[in-house]
Amino acid sequence: MQFFNFVGGRWTPSASGRTFENRNPADTRELIGHFADSTVADAEQAIAAARGAYDSWRLVPAPKRAEILFRAAQLIADRKEAFARDMTREMGKVLDETRGDVQEAIDMTYFLAGEGRRLHGQTAPSELRDKFAMSIRQPIGVCAMITPWNFPMAIPSWKIIPALVCGNTVVLKPSELTPLSAVHFIKVLEEAGVPPGVVNMVTGGPAVGEALTTHADVSVVSFTGSTAVGRLVNQNAAPHFKKVHLEMGGKNAIMILDDANLELALEGCLWGGFGTTGQRCTAASRVIVHEKIHDRFVEQFVARARALRVGDGLDPQVQVGPSISEKQLQKVMSYVEIGRQEGATVACGGSRLTGPAHANGFFHEPTVFTGVTRSMRIAREEIFGPVVSVVKCASLDEAIAIGNDVVYGLSASIYTQDVNRAFRAMRDMYTGIFYVNAPTIGAEVHLPFGGTKATGNGHREAGLAALDVFSEWKSIYVDFSGKLQRAQIDTE
Ligand code: NAD
Repeated sequence: MQFFNFVGGRWTPSASGRTFENRNPADTRELIGHFADSTVADAEQAIAAARGAYDSWRLVPAPKRAEILFRAAQLIADRKEAFARDMTREMGKVLDETRGDVQEAIDMTYFLAGEGRRLHGQTAPSELRDKFAMSIRQPIGVCAMITPWNFPMAIPSWKIIPALVCGNTVVLKPSELTPLSAVHFIKVLEEAGVPPGVVNMVTGGPAVGEALTTHADVSVVSFTGSTAVGRLVNQNAAPHFKKVHLEMGGKNAIMILDDANLELALEGCLWGGFGTTGQRCTAASRVIVHEKIHDRFVEQFVARARALRVGDGLDPQVQVGPSISEKQLQKVMSYVEIGRQEGATVACGGSRLTGPAHANGFFHEPTVFTGVTRSMRIAREEIFGPVVSVVKCASLDEAIAIGNDVVYGLSASIYTQDVNRAFRAMRDMYTGIFYVNAPTIGAEVHLPFGGTKATGNGHREAGLAALDVFSEWKSIYVDFSGKLQRAQIDTE
């Protein structure tokens, strides 16, 4: 099956005529489709279409823009099961999780479509007589969006929907590993009535992404992906002073104190560490456990990790799917080797799965490292696979110090029954997201999402914070006194 770019309201092949293949990571014999291998010229056409559509779209009343988005949300809901199945085929995570991914896109679209009737600004008294003061949000222009493969519908929705409700136009470049879910999402927007040129999509690799980050007519770049590529995006966008929104890597920690409900913590660590095969930016790849309960925790955690069923995510018995690609699997395997060489103990797992059920995919055993110290690379670097490092601590203070001792700052969590200690951790962990008695994953769309330090550059996705990425404030003063009034000078 052949899939095209979406430019100016038309589904078109790349000008190059080239395509690339997308295959199922659970069984690479299954071809998902051929997609346009776009060029810089394709990206430029998409930007021109978005630029052309901007002048009329920005003037469509926001409640009317929102009506289209409400229709889109309903269409996604109607097709949720089919979209989830295709997503499992193209990126591997289990069906329950791909249903969750699609649900997140539905939730985000409904939530932010609701903003079409709000988009609140402020009114304020003026310090001068007979003068009115207010601030309004205004759209910015063409927004380029570059997205990763691990949330192939949710993440495009987090970016596209707030951009549209604010009155911007869009060019999306989805990950080359998950273009089908992006095609589904864009088709829904088309069917819901988004006018031609308002949303465009070009599929392809880094060259297309780079073209979007450097083009003078792109005003906003919203990027989710690795910290290494985010840095390049930021550098490439800097000469034009584009507004750049970056959501990048994580090395998230669950802290388990000696008074924790151990059963709850075990469930949370399994879900946080091995859900989505550890391929979540918020994955709990570190577990910091109080020494008093460390051995008991490890014994049970290892037994449960060993029992996880790994395989094709379409099989309802399977709990952990494949890595996304051979390259990603090789990265996981190389980190397992690094951990061994650093002196950590492989308490379970540690190998690629190659039996008959796994021979044609990118499968790895759920792996737990114990005896990990905070200075080891497996405790500091993002692995993005089914590998959890357990680090021992002696106190809450030490847990927080270890938790914060990484370059990233996305999510963290604590298991404790002590409200005082929970509040100290909430305050002192320098992350964008924090959970109490829950794992590091599980964000809801109406709260801000994002991280500190090398995870983000100060913006937030989701919640009302998303509107700040895709709109600019304009302050407006209306003087109805009929005379010149000078602020700060005319004091009477
Ligand atoms: P990646 O950085 O390899 O790719 C992300 C996107 O950038 C892809 O569409 C890719 O084609 C594009 N790209 C690559 N080179 C580019 C360049 N030079 N210029 C412009 N675009 C370019 O990341 P990935 O492997 O797709 O995703 C995994 C990473 O994403 C992990 O680090 C994960 O933590 C992160 N992530 C972060 C969040 C978050 O919200 N913080 C959410 C999901 C994933």
